[in-house]
Amino acid sequence: MVIDSITDGIVIDHITSGMSMTLYNYLHLDKLTCSVAIIKNAPSSKAGKKDIIKIDRPIDIDIDVLGYLDPGVSVNIIENGEIVKKFKPDLPERLVDVIKCRNPRCISQDEQELVHIFKLTDRENHVYRCIYCESKGKAHFKR
Ligand SMILES: [Zn+2]
Repeated sequence: MVIDSITDGIVIDHITSGMSMTLYNYLHLDKLTCSVAIIKNAPSSKAGKKDIIKIDRPIDIDIDVLGYLDPGVSVNIIENGEIVKKFKPDLPERLVDVIKCRNPRCISQDEQELVHIFKLTDRENHVYRCIYCESKGKAHFKR
């Protein structure tokens, strides 16, 4: 992949084709003032097609949430035009304000200001449970 357009920033590569806008929204990239490039349906040797997001500034993004939304991505940190760090995000231990509890009797339904928090209870099967009522979080994003 060509990263020559970025000197300092972040490239999120190997995004499942069609997932780039979901990640864009969850990472709140619309709030950034720097350039953000979204490349859809780039050719991929692994998956046939992939999406890529390039952020033209070394910002603090919530890498953990990527591990939940699209576990196959790889994150490249670019400094002075070189990849200084490349890694795949892990499934996060906790999801804070990412998914909402669907249990109508859960306390989080009544208390508007309560943050929806889910805890990873089964890493192998990607199961998250609400910390208030232990309901299962909604299914992992389809790939
Ligand atoms: Zn709950």
